[in-house]
Amino acid sequence: MAVERTLSIIKPDAVEQNHIGEIVAMIEAAGLKVKAMRMTHLSRPQAEGFYYVHKERPFFGELVEFMTRGPVVLMCLEGEGAIAKWREVMGATNPAEAAEGTVRKRFGSNIGENASHGSDATETAAFEVSYFFPGYDL
Ligand code: ADP
Ligand code: MG
Repeated sequence: MAVERTLSIIKPDAVEQNHIGEIVAMIEAAGLKVKAMRMTHLSRPQAEGFYYVHKERPFFGELVEFMTRGPVVLMCLEGEGAIAKWREVMGATNPAEAAEGTVRKRFGSNIGENASHGSDATETAAFEVSYFFPGYDL
């Protein structure tokens, strides 16, 4: 499997509940490298642009509201099969359906407030990493 880069976000709910350290520890324990990291409070246009693929979905307004309500931690992760690996460590979108021990099972509250984000494919990872880390050498 190839070495990949993927975009990870610790969402506002997990930052509010003091879970940054535990989530970063889970990332590192999985063998993924944190290549870049930044804490920021997303503006509405930044969140809307990031989630543009979901703009027609009924939950889009709620999602943007949530993602802009407090600071997030943005990370570029690297490793063998990093895209799938980080999604495995995160667990299913809905915390109720996520496997035991995953980030979303441990720290997510519901399908909207689910503690973390991870890119889902090679193309989206490239877009998402460059969206928040422009100029970062891919
Ligand atoms: P994932 O984050 O697992 O890739 P999606 O790309 O389908 O999931 O959705 C993006 C984000 O939108 C989810 O992580 C979650 O925060 C939110 N979301 C997804 N589905 C719903 C829903 N039915 N109601 C509210 N929010 C949702
Ligand atoms: Mg997604």
